[in-house]
Amino acid sequence: MNSIIDLLDLEDPNAVVTETKIEGNVKTITFETRPSIHFCPQCGFRMHSRGIKQRKVNHPVLQDNYQLMIILKQRRWRCTNPECLFEMNEHFNFVNRYRRNTNATDMLIIDAFRDLSATAADIARKFYLSDTQVLDVFDRYVKLDRLPLTDAISVDEVFVDMAPKCKYALVIQDFHTGEPIDMLRSRRSEVTEPYFASISREERLRVRYLISDMYNPYLQYVNRYFPLATPVVDSFHVIQWLIRELDNFIRALLKRFKERDRLRQGQLSMDLHREVRLPLSDEVYLLQNYRWILLKNRKHIRYYPVVRQIKRCTFRQIIRCDFAAQLRCLGTLLDAETALCFHK
Ligand SMILES: [Zn+2]
Repeated sequence: MNSIIDLLDLEDPNAVVTETKIEGNVKTITFETRPSIHFCPQCGFRMHSRGIKQRKVNHPVLQDNYQLMIILKQRRWRCTNPECLFEMNEHFNFVNRYRRNTNATDMLIIDAFRDLSATAADIARKFYLSDTQVLDVFDRYVKLDRLPLTDAISVDEVFVDMAPKCKYALVIQDFHTGEPIDMLRSRRSEVTEPYFASISREERLRVRYLISDMYNPYLQYVNRYFPLATPVVDSFHVIQWLIRELDNFIRALLKRFKERDRLRQGQLSMDLHREVRLPLSDEVYLLQNYRWILLKNRKHIRYYPVVRQIKRCTFRQIIRCDFAAQLRCLGTLLDAETALCFHK
């Protein structure tokens, strides 16, 4: 029986396995200690057993798809000295007093976090625990101290999808160096509120600029935590916003032209009493295929003055950019000049 103890890495010289049971995919192993004489750690008197209590502990070491459940039969001892009456529970080396997992489980969980592709939910499933339990284990052992706040800090979120309530982690960076100051498991106020409140006011007053995107709660941080700071929206986010607005405008325009062409085609079909299919209009063609000319940074558009031949289609002037895939003009007769005129 003790070979099971060795096999499962449950080291305790006093513990013996008294029963093993398999039900479905759960293996249950019962441990207890041999009865021995106990003396009170407080006064040295003999102690009496007050009976045995069963305690369930998780130990997910078996790899053959079984869930391993350990039952500890713990004796409760009481001092016979009427002046003392000290009580204590029996202790097993491989599990802490108030924990539902063996100590080895914690180490296995920490080890599982080394796999960067594994989410907390994956790890929780593997160890038959909840997401919160595995995150608690991580927090207990992995201490990542934050760096001091600087005069210019930036806050942004990263998609982590650790748990349904932890989709976005909050990253705080030094704006000057880009060095991460700290990372919070969520950008939700129940996480950020106690976090920022726990930083001393003196340190928070040091922050003069808070750089973020246009997410309203970030802009509010200035009023709530950094009273001397000016909120600054990152130029990247401003440009991103402008481009998105422009793109939305182009898409709406494209929709309008498509609708116009559809009506024209319908009208023509009705007038001629037969199905008419009009070729793609220039407006729709340009908006569909050359949207990128408007959206791309002009510096990054490369112009080729020489004639180039691409498959069947010859252009007098070819424009080519890194988004070559967007150049869906192969096989058409439209030349790039028209596209450039449209750009102007
Ligand atoms: Zn005692």
